[in-house]
Amino acid sequence: MTMSLEKENQGRAQLISFSSPALYAQPDVSAPWSEQELQAVPEEWREPLRSYGELFVNRWDIHAIQRRDGSYVCVRQPLTHEMLWRHILGEVSLGVYALDQESRGRWSAFDADDDGGWKGLISLSTQLAERSIPSYLEHSRRGGHLWLFMEDSLSGKTLRAFGRELLSWVNATVEIFPKSNQNKGGPGSLIRLPLGIHRRSRKRYPFVDSDGHTLGANVREQLKVLAEARRVPTGCVAEVLGEALSSAREATSVPARPASDGERTGVIERLKRIDLFTFISAYVELTPSGRGHCPFHDDEHMSFSVNREGNYWNCFAGCGGGDIINFWEKWRRISRREAIQELTCIDRSMSAPEAQ
Ligand SMILES: [Zn+2]
Repeated sequence: MTMSLEKENQGRAQLISFSSPALYAQPDVSAPWSEQELQAVPEEWREPLRSYGELFVNRWDIHAIQRRDGSYVCVRQPLTHEMLWRHILGEVSLGVYALDQESRGRWSAFDADDDGGWKGLISLSTQLAERSIPSYLEHSRRGGHLWLFMEDSLSGKTLRAFGRELLSWVNATVEIFPKSNQNKGGPGSLIRLPLGIHRRSRKRYPFVDSDGHTLGANVREQLKVLAEARRVPTGCVAEVLGEALSSAREATSVPARPASDGERTGVIERLKRIDLFTFISAYVELTPSGRGHCPFHDDEHMSFSVNREGNYWNCFAGCGGGDIINFWEKWRRISRREAIQELTCIDRSMSAPEAQ
């Protein structure tokens, strides 16, 4: 009796995790505005405010208001476009939560509290630009923020791993938002919603380029720039995380690991030279750039990616990554040793005609 109930509950838990979009339905920000919102916001500001909300707001069911001392209080009432408008007017100052109810978010931000940190963020934004990863610098009371707007909603874990990796490119002490991988008990970390008035300093802070020039002369123009803000492609996130993974492997596991009897170096090296994109394409549908739905978790976000140049795979939702052997181990749910044996057979049968 108890057993079957347990099973039933497990089944229910499965159901919950697979039907999340319905259970955690977000208010549709593109839905028509309420009468009150329409009355409050002048027509020419509606479209800029709509994209502003879409860019920064991860959850609409609650909001945070800044107090006079600069701290925030969480208000358990929905956020509206009317409030965003009052924030722009300076009547109220809002904070935005880094993660939604499912611990996912559409941006990550770095917060520098001093001049050194700010210089680090400027340098990071330049390095990102060199790799065609768009980022946005914003002044703050003591230093500044660097914002990365994501193409897709990503897990807190991925956002933080990506943030940590980017930070390793520069020598700067700054804070990463979201501050934790998951919300536990509360709505989690928040950051001042840009373009409003800081309650403590009574100032507005602009977005700037790496030379310090403001992106638009006033709030209206800055909103226009933000409405066209470039997003970080999800493939880029996967690529950066994949590179980090493979360089970590090179640095640690390979030289330290003595080849066991099943792992003669020649065999392994040969397997690793198999084109991973072609190989995995037989099992997972991939786009020409190597993206696809991860076969190892219930994936709605195309979290899986094969790096064609580096010949490795990665799931940035946390399933891991690596070379062809790691993939086959996971795909077949077998040991590394068994994976090597099977792959060796596959490899022989694939290359037999050429070898003649
Ligand atoms: Zn996965």
